[in-house]
Amino acid sequence: MSAARRMMVAGNWKMNGNTASMTELQAMMDGVGDTPAVDVLICPPFPLIGRFSGASEGRGIGIGAQDCHFNKSGAHTGDVSAALLADVGAKAVIVGHSERRADHTEVDDLVQAKAQAALDAGLTAIVCVGETEAERDAGEAEAVVLAQLSGSLPASGVEHVVVAYEPVWAIGTGRVPSIEDITTMHAAIRRAVVDHYGDAGNGVRLLYGGSVKPGNAAEIFAIEDVDGGLIGGASLKADDFLGIVNAGIAQV
Ligand code: PEP
Repeated sequence: MSAARRMMVAGNWKMNGNTASMTELQAMMDGVGDTPAVDVLICPPFPLIGRFSGASEGRGIGIGAQDCHFNKSGAHTGDVSAALLADVGAKAVIVGHSERRADHTEVDDLVQAKAQAALDAGLTAIVCVGETEAERDAGEAEAVVLAQLSGSLPASGVEHVVVAYEPVWAIGTGRVPSIEDITTMHAAIRRAVVDHYGDAGNGVRLLYGGSVKPGNAAEIFAIEDVDGGLIGGASLKADDFLGIVNAGIAQV
C-alpha cells in the first residue's frame, strides 16, 4: 500500500443475501465503527441497495452496486441506471467484473461506457480486469490485463476511478497468485494507469481480488501497489470480512 492513497476494502456479495442479511450488515457496521481508517464498501444485489444504504447512513460502511447500465434512463428492461443507484444511496459501482464479462458478454467498450455513466452519476467506478488461467499459462496475462484496462478506463474522472485486478482463475477457487506475480501485475497496472491519466494516475487505487481471506489479506495488502481488496466469498460473513478490513487498517 501507499501512504498517499486511502485503502479500500470492498465486498462483492454477487447473487447472495436477502432481507435477513441486514443482521450481517449490522454486525459489519458495528465491527468497523463509524470512522474507519480505510474505505469500506458492501455491494449487495440491487434490491437490497436502498434498504442497506438507509441503514448505513452515517456509519463506516458505504453501499455499492455490482453493475449499472450506461444510459441514464430508457427502454432497457431489467437494467438499472447509475443515476438510480445514486438516488437510492449507492456510493460506488463495480463494472466489468469477470462474471459479467463472461455471463453477459460484456466487452471493454461497454465496460468503459458503464464506468463513465457511474462517474457522471457521482459514483465511484470500480473497473475490473483480469486474465483467465489459459491466458496466464500462455504468458499473456499482462498483455490481456493492459488491453482490458486501456479499453475499459474512462477518459476522465480519475479521482473517482478504482481499478480491481482479479485473475479469473483465482476468483472463488482458493488459489491466489504468488506475491511476486501480484507485485509485478500491480506495478504494470500502475504504469498503464499513469500513462492513461498522467500524474493523477498515481492517485488511483488498485485493488487485488481473488480468494482474499483473513489469513492472506495482510501479506497481499502489504504489496507496494495494492491499495486494498475486492472480496467475494469472504465478504458474506461479518467475522471474515472484518478480519480482512482489519488487515487493511493495520497497513495505515
Ligand atoms: C470476486 O468475485 O470479486 C472475488 C474476488 O471473489 P472471491 O473473493 O470469492 O474469490
